[in-house]
Order: sequence, then structure tokens, then C-alpha cells
Amino acid sequence: MTYENYLGFSREVLLEKMRQILPEKRLTHCLGVEKAARDLAKRYGADEEQAGLAGLLHDYAKKLSDQEFLDLIDRYELDPALKNWGNNVWHGMVGIYKIQEDLGLTDPAILRSIEIHTVGSGQMSTLDKIVYVADYIEHNRDFPGVEQARDIAQVSLDRAVAYETARTVEHLAHQGLPIYPQTLETYNAFVKYLKEEQ
Ligand code: GDP
Ligand code: FE
Ligand code: FE
Repeated sequence: MTYENYLGFSREVLLEKMRQILPEKRLTHCLGVEKAARDLAKRYGADEEQAGLAGLLHDYAKKLSDQEFLDLIDRYELDPALKNWGNNVWHGMVGIYKIQEDLGLTDPAILRSIEIHTVGSGQMSTLDKIVYVADYIEHNRDFPGVEQARDIAQVSLDRAVAYETARTVEHLAHQGLPIYPQTLETYNAFVKYLKEEQ
């Protein structure tokens, strides 16, 4: 399956649509995640087209207004507890409804990987792990620990998920920020992979 099979239009047309709604820096990040996701798919024997499209689209909804997200939560009767969070959690968990509305994308595996790309899940498919990790290690990223994350991602996708989640939880706690319960579920499910022998 090509991007065109999934979307009904070409990658070029998708990029034009994304250029209308995302600032250049965010688009560059999305292109970096597309590339990183394709590389990880190749490395781990997953579908490169599916991973690439999920990576490219993962932050599609990043620039929606808070009001648009709150309306989507109502319209799709999503968990009302979501309303207590913000853009960081909404652009994935709620963003997939905007992606379906705007682009007509229906592939459940791609939509799921985008839904949980920020918070992960206790139960993640290979594609879910690829998008989650690609978002963290794509070549435009520059923060302390990113090189280690890139090295780990070459060895084990599970260890990379564990490392990224532990760093994120640490970071959020250090900043005194609330941690979405599903992020902690991800941490608990993957923490065993931080031990060398797993
Ligand atoms: P980005 O969209 O490419 O910037 O990356 P992500 O979608 O992975 O994360 C967006 C933001 O959400 C980052 O600043 C993360 O630190 C933050 N984030 C990740 N998990 C959680 C969480 O559980 N709770 C909160 N409040 N923020 C989180
Ligand atoms: Fe994101
Ligand atoms: Fe991202």
C-alpha cells in the first residue's frame, strides 16, 4: 500500500495541505519523523509506507485551537476527563478525529499509532512503537540524551520505548507537570526493558 492507496491522493498533495496548517519548523519535524519511521520500519521488518505515512501525519493536529479540540471531544463523545488536559495530550488522542475528517484516512493501525504517539500505551504494536520512538529520535531533535536514544533504537524498539518514557516521566516530574495516566501505564509496561538483560 502506498500513501496514495491510504489517502486517495498523493504525498505531494498531502504536503501542500500540511503546509497550509503547520509552521515550517513543525513540518520539518514531521518530515524528520517520516524518515526516522521508515528507517525503523526497515530495521524491524515493518511496513515502510505505513510507518512513513504515520510518521509524516503524527503532528497534523498540533495547531488546532483548544476550542476545536474541546468541540471534537464533545462531538465524538470521547472521555470527558480528556478536557482536563491540553494540547500536549489532545493533538494525538483527539487529533486523529481531525485527521479522519480532513483527510478521510481510515487505516486503523495508522490512526492508533498517531493517537498514542505522545503517551504510548501498555500494549503497543510494532507500528505504535516505531512512531513513538521516531518522534523522539528524528534527526532534527537536539536535546541531552537524544544520541543515546538513537543508539538504543538501533538495538531494541522495546528498550527505546522504555528509555524515552522514563526520560519523559522524569522530565515532567522535574518540571512539576501533571502526567497523563496512560503515560504511567506505558512506563510500567516497559520499565523492565531498562534492565540490560531484558
Ligand atoms: P511533539 O508533539 O513532537 O512536540 O512531541 P510529543 O507529542 O511526544 O509531546 C508533546 C509534549 O507533551 C512534550 O512536551 C511532552 O513532554 C509532553 N508530554 C508527554 N507525555 C505527557 C504527559 O503524560 N503529560 C503531560 N502533561 N505532557 C506530556
Ligand atoms: Fe506530537
Ligand atoms: Fe512530534
